[in-house]
Amino acid sequence: MKRVVLLGSTGSIGTSTCKVAEDLPNDIELVGLAAGRNVSLLREQVEMFSPRMISVMDHEAANELAIEYDDTLDVFCGADGLIELATMKEADIVLIAIVGTAGLEPALAAIRAGKDIAVASKEILVMAGETVMSEARKYGVNVLPVDSEHSAIFQCLEGKPAESIRQLWLTASGGPFRETPIEKFSNITVEQALKHPSWEMGPKITIDSATLFNKGLEMIEARWLFDIEMSRVKVIVHPQSVIHSMVEFVDGSLLAQLSTPDMCLPIQYALTYPGRVSCGRVQTNLAAIGRLDFEEPDNERFPSLDLARLAGEKGGTLPAVFNAANEVAVEAFCNQEIEFISITKIVSDTMDTHELADLPTLDEILEADSWAREMARNLILSL
Ligand code: NDP
Repeated sequence: MKRVVLLGSTGSIGTSTCKVAEDLPNDIELVGLAAGRNVSLLREQVEMFSPRMISVMDHEAANELAIEYDDTLDVFCGADGLIELATMKEADIVLIAIVGTAGLEPALAAIRAGKDIAVASKEILVMAGETVMSEARKYGVNVLPVDSEHSAIFQCLEGKPAESIRQLWLTASGGPFRETPIEKFSNITVEQALKHPSWEMGPKITIDSATLFNKGLEMIEARWLFDIEMSRVKVIVHPQSVIHSMVEFVDGSLLAQLSTPDMCLPIQYALTYPGRVSCGRVQTNLAAIGRLDFEEPDNERFPSLDLARLAGEKGGTLPAVFNAANEVAVEAFCNQEIEFISITKIVSDTMDTHELADLPTLDEILEADSWAREMARNLILSL
């Protein structure tokens, strides 16, 4: 039985994790749940899973819940609440599925409290991959991927020595604009960008999948998670999203992990690792899928991949800047303040003006994050 704290329980990954916990009541116990503002869904989850601790963003909502649940469970709020849950004595593993940067400090707190972490929130490894992985080594805990691509690579790599790897291949669906000519990019609407061809996800990651920034973030994540140079992290477009990613070995052999797209599978693997537990939820009918296609990514239409490679290669504070500027630009696009194509321009211009700090401390990373947000907002206003 794994005792799991789930940060971001009301989101897309959070609700899929709840399905996995429902599927496997003898293997997974949700002992802590943290939500943002969706208190009504959190109430349903408390009813269903009887956690020992919960946390919400808002102080007032936390007070109401504390009165409602009286002595039956502990209620916390805000950033401190996330740390309380991440370090709770009864937990074995903390799954972090909060959108944005709020998951970084709880992730480090969990590691320092000796907990394994399962990472969905890309920001954690993109911003502070070096710190997170070195702290995990120091405290002897596992950093387990939840993202389907990294889970695939993790599964293919199991037990293989580092010197046997030639390169990693992240697959990308190509998003809704895979076939859209560049001339039409300036007319892309928020509604169109929110329609992902293969995955149902939260809004931020769905827009990132349309710009391919999501794949860029994943490249940087993979670089840290698997301790491999950026030049050996490759991207290939695979529209069916059946192959979740691949490892190419030095002898030319490729190992891939396949299934119909369903986030419950990588979530389950992260929570039951190193075991595999029987579950009928995911069934893959290859004959019905019929074919698997591959294409080179188009760097001209999707410059986010080159920007990610640059950020990952230069390192230091640049990946945090890449991530923060993108978050601000995506929000501005969703609020119809900027065009789809301006997302990349805002990120690129923010990166160009950044004075990179090598080997940054966590405070310097957070400072670079704030700086990039302000710079990106100013650039948006000046468009
Ligand atoms: P959603 O927007 O669907 O959910 C975000 C969750 O975070 C919600 O539970 C939200 O609470 C909560 N939240 C936001 N801010 C805070 C905060 N400050 N404190 C506590 N809780 C907070 O996002 P997704 O589930 O899609 O994505 C989560 C992360 O996982 C992202 O980093 C994404 O890149 C990554 N990811 C997602 C995948 C997917 O398939 N969705 C795949 C791989 C990675 P509330 O709703 O109650 O306000």
